[in-house]
Amino acid sequence: MQIVKTAAELSQLRGKMTAPLGFVPTMGYLHEGHLALVRQAKAENASVAVSIFVNPTQFGPNEDFRQYPRDSKRDLAFLEGEGTDLVFMPPVEEIYPPGFDKWVEVGRLGRRLEGASRPGHFRGVATVVARLFELVKPDRAYFGQKDAQQLLVVKKMVADLGMSLEVIAVPTVREPDGLAMSSRNTYLNPEERKQAVVLYQALSLARRLYNDGEKDAEVIRRRMTALIQKEPLAAIDYISIADAQTMEELEEVKPPALVSMAVKIGKTRLIDNVVL
Ligand code: AMP
Repeated sequence: MQIVKTAAELSQLRGKMTAPLGFVPTMGYLHEGHLALVRQAKAENASVAVSIFVNPTQFGPNEDFRQYPRDSKRDLAFLEGEGTDLVFMPPVEEIYPPGFDKWVEVGRLGRRLEGASRPGHFRGVATVVARLFELVKPDRAYFGQKDAQQLLVVKKMVADLGMSLEVIAVPTVREPDGLAMSSRNTYLNPEERKQAVVLYQALSLARRLYNDGEKDAEVIRRRMTALIQKEPLAAIDYISIADAQTMEELEEVKPPALVSMAVKIGKTRLIDNVVL
């Protein structure tokens, strides 16, 4: 496994990698969710590259950029175990050289839901993903369904800018009780961890109601809200039932619909979703 920190080293090694190249961008502190992406990339490509970069531009001024968990030794051991060919771990200046001022602006899709709660978030995501694609030049890039809106933003950027690679979605990996795996789960204390399962319970409730014939999105949203409000440490940021392509809110649930939410458990903001 080659570990590179600079764009120059990367471009040297990139030429020697066997095509097709599968690429998994991450912010590190890897868990089984990330490793599912790496395994799928490995299964579908001749070579696999993973990046570990906690991207400052996708964090808001009062968000957790500084506290975001980091453990590159552990990450590298996991990636070695999965047979990763190359790991790109750039310092911030490699991605954003001094004076850097070229951004990928995201339109409507980036202003809804996560974009509304986290202004500038998707501009940071789209910009870093575009930079990484430029440097790594992958044939396929793997993203988790866990971050459904991010996946849509990246797919749309690739289509709109005519980038020549394929974006592949990988299903959400969950803990045995249903909590979606996330590097941020490490912030939860034992009581918060117990209550965090309510996100998945609310998504399961939505699926059950829908399967039983409920098509009124407002009724489903209200039932989800009531369930989450039973947990004293949970505070809802948003609950959305939206068209799975445009993310426009629905009144009548029509498949494919994306049921997504952001809920704070104590101080930790968690997101999750299911597609109906
Ligand atoms: P992050 O390190 O949080 O930026 O995530 C890197 C990639 O892993 C993104 O494409 C995420 O959507 C994906 N990912 C994170 N958690 C999960 C999960 N529980 N299941 C599937 N993919 C995930």
